Amino acid sequence: MLERDLETLSAKLGERAIREHPLGRLTTYRVGGDAAIYFVAEGEDDLHRVRIALSGSSVPFLVLGNGSNMLVSDRGFPGLVVKLGSGFDYVTIPNGARPTEVERVVVAAGAATDFPILARKSVEAGLSGLEWAVGIPGTVGGAVRMNAGGHGSDVASCLKRCRWMDIASGTYGDGGPSELGFGYRTSGIAPTAIVTRAEFWAQEGDRDESRSVLSDVVRWRRDNQPGGSNAGSVFTNPPGISAGELVEAAGLKGYRHNSASVSLKHANFIQADVGGSAADVYELMDYVARRVMDESGVALSREVRLVGFDVEVGGAHS
Ligand SMILES: Cc1cc2nc3c(=O)[nH]c(=O)nc-3n(C[C@H](O)[C@H](O)[C@H](O)COP(=O)(O)OP(=O)(O)OC[C@H]3O[C@@H](n4cnc5c(N)ncnc54)[C@H](O)[C@@H]3O)c2cc1C
Repeated sequence: MLERDLETLSAKLGERAIREHPLGRLTTYRVGGDAAIYFVAEGEDDLHRVRIALSGSSVPFLVLGNGSNMLVSDRGFPGLVVKLGSGFDYVTIPNGARPTEVERVVVAAGAATDFPILARKSVEAGLSGLEWAVGIPGTVGGAVRMNAGGHGSDVASCLKRCRWMDIASGTYGDGGPSELGFGYRTSGIAPTAIVTRAEFWAQEGDRDESRSVLSDVVRWRRDNQPGGSNAGSVFTNPPGISAGELVEAAGLKGYRHNSASVSLKHANFIQADVGGSAADVYELMDYVARRVMDESGVALSREVRLVGFDVEVGGAHS
């Protein structure tokens, strides 16, 4: 049944819909299987095409950003993965007369824009307030969905508004933080909603000072976080304590499970070996959470999104 639906969907989307396209490789873990169908939406017209093609179909749906907060199962994702393309990759900064220091400036970006690019472009335009984003290797859309944050800030505190399209209903939404249900590394954005554009607040700044903040953020990341294949922090920090400290206190820093290991540099990062498996990463996440519960009685919550596992899949299309 699903296979027939996949064939029908693929035919409706046309030749740019690719069957059995590598998906795990498009994530920062670089492990995991294929997407049953992969489609790059170059602009809003393509999103409409996707919506019409999906209408009445049982095929599950997932929007992919930079895959920097995802673990894709070795089986892959049995549905349609949509990646936003070039039409959603832009940063717009007002030039000419700008308000005084105390007033705020709006920086707009397409959802496919790399978050660090947004930070760097706003700094080069003499604006301040988005420097923290240089350390987060996601897209604008993924950052809004996850309420990404760090270095004392997060999306919820900088976002003016964003625009999205709900692929299930075909309706557009437009709203600010009060409508988006932001929490710590979460939002209330529906799994079937695709963020297409976001506007952020910034203010006039000193370019040299902001450049130096960018360098500090990058240096801090290099000194405190590992390279290699990972998706950043695996668990959110429980109130008042860091998840990394809890993992370390459970004696798990450097712990290895087949092709996955807890980073020696940052205990809340799990690394995948080149050619490793998503199952090893998943099992290690599970083991770490159980050991922390046994050692400290704290239940860790996963920040990394699981894709194609029985426990959690992408947005189910209705
Ligand atoms: C080395 C490293 C360091 C990191 N440090 C941080 C950090 O300091 N702070 C932090 O918050 N995160 C951090 N992360 C995690 C990650 O970068 C963020 O969560 C980022 O916002 C995810 O963006 P993405 O585009 O990669 O999303 P993806 O991983 O592709 O997707 C994540 C979720 O967002 C959804 N999504 C993606 N694009 C859209 C869209 N356009 N519309 C709607 N939903 C969408 C996906 O369906 C999925 O549910 C780090 C990751 C790495 C690898």
